[in-house]
Amino acid sequence: GLLSAFFRRDPLLAHYKIGRRLGKGTFATVKEATEKTGDKKKWAVKIIDKRVLAPEDEQALTKEVEIMKQLAELQHPNIVFLKEVCQSEGTFYIVQELCAGGELFDRIVEKEKYSEKDARIAMKQIVSAVDACHDLRIVHRDLKPENLLYQAKTGENKDVIKLADFGLANMLKADEALATACGTPGYVAPEVIAQVGYDKEVDIWSLGVIMYILLCGFPPFYSENNPQLFRMIQRCQYTFTRPYWDQVSDQAKDLIRSMLVVDPKKRATCKQILEDPWMTVDEPQKKPEL
Ligand code: ADP
Ligand code: MG
Repeated sequence: GLLSAFFRRDPLLAHYKIGRRLGKGTFATVKEATEKTGDKKKWAVKIIDKRVLAPEDEQALTKEVEIMKQLAELQHPNIVFLKEVCQSEGTFYIVQELCAGGELFDRIVEKEKYSEKDARIAMKQIVSAVDACHDLRIVHRDLKPENLLYQAKTGENKDVIKLADFGLANMLKADEALATACGTPGYVAPEVIAQVGYDKEVDIWSLGVIMYILLCGFPPFYSENNPQLFRMIQRCQYTFTRPYWDQVSDQAKDLIRSMLVVDPKKRATCKQILEDPWMTVDEPQKKPEL
């Protein structure tokens, strides 16, 4: 009857009005959700149909939520905030901070490429978010411009970037390397392809790929053919292609070179990147005391 239908309704729908679609990933559809009461605040709700989930996917989802909860406590300005999670019989809902500015991916396409100054503004925030994850021994494993979201399209927050999608993220148990191949081919580190086990350095490799793309608008490693792409990555075969890179500073290239290193032990860390001369060039320098 009507009443039982009412009681079986998902509790989430009682509190939020679901709106336009914001994006789609592998398993999830993300939609806008507006609180029905109070200040009518807007959120983003990641909706996952349980029926498409294999038991191991369901486990991954539980892990994603656990990791997001842990990160939410940090209230880091560049990590998407988790508000709450709900589930009904057939669906999981993850209610998150709304990033109405869209994907970094689309902003790159729109701008073609970033100036060094704009790339620096973006990289500082992204590396700071990843650094906070690494401090908690959380490895994102799927860093790419589709998972980096702008807070707003216009206004004072239009250049604020947030790290999203912890679907592949994993908490490292002490001294235990991860060994499942995942991620997106063009951003994946050599040791992931080699399946020798890996650690948080995989994120640094992806950051190098992202910084490269920001500054020229095309990826460092590219092939339509995956085995060939993997070979290029494992040999670190990329160039600062002319004429596109002619105007880019050597400092920027050096920083990318410090991230795209085959040996993960020799790759820069987040803290080293944050202190790199290219990153800090526009910060007021401490004057030496006389
Ligand atoms: P998947 O794990 O399936 O890749 P994501 O969490 O990456 O799911 O979400 C898919 C897409 O939905 C994103 O690439 C983005 O376009 C959009 N999206 C995700 N989270 C938000 C958010 N908090 N605010 C706005 N859009 C979002
Ligand atoms: Mg995603």
